[in-house]
Amino acid sequence: MSGNRSERFYAHGLQFECLKCGTCCTGAPGFVYLSKGDIVSIAEFLKKDKRTIIQQYTRLVYIFGERRLSLTERANYDCVFWNRMCTIYEARPYQCRSFPFWKRHLISSREWARVGERCPGINRGHLYAASQIERFARGAHNYSIDRFISTDFDFP
Ligand code: SF4
Ligand code: SF4
Repeated sequence: MSGNRSERFYAHGLQFECLKCGTCCTGAPGFVYLSKGDIVSIAEFLKKDKRTIIQQYTRLVYIFGERRLSLTERANYDCVFWNRMCTIYEARPYQCRSFPFWKRHLISSREWARVGERCPGINRGHLYAASQIERFARGAHNYSIDRFISTDFDFP
């Protein structure tokens, strides 16, 4: 997202509408990182304690030199919360809520087009303004669990 906003390929906004097809939730290995806030939201939504959420639905991964929690995948690589739909949609993690407006997708129109090869919701539906798009991209949380441990978070 370097350069003046008016020079960026999304200066006049980008269209996106999630068709809830599940392509990005299923069928291939990947990571859905969780912030402390994401865990709290899922715990409240499922009416379970945070420890249970972490133990039942997450795995520890080492990436970018830090320890993170990522949602568990089933043997076929479907997200643990996928069951013909996202079963925690209202409380889905920020990574899911901010898709497709991730920094790496906004580097160029070419990258954006690449996302569209996998996601049928790209370039259709709601027009998001450049300012909204950048707010999504900037909102990524700190995912290092060592931050959790250093707070009063109830980490197992
Ligand atoms: S692939 Fe795109 S349209 Fe399908 S569920 Fe994911 S974000 Fe929505
Ligand atoms: S939490 Fe929901 S939206 Fe996110 S990957 Fe899993 S099923 Fe998809």
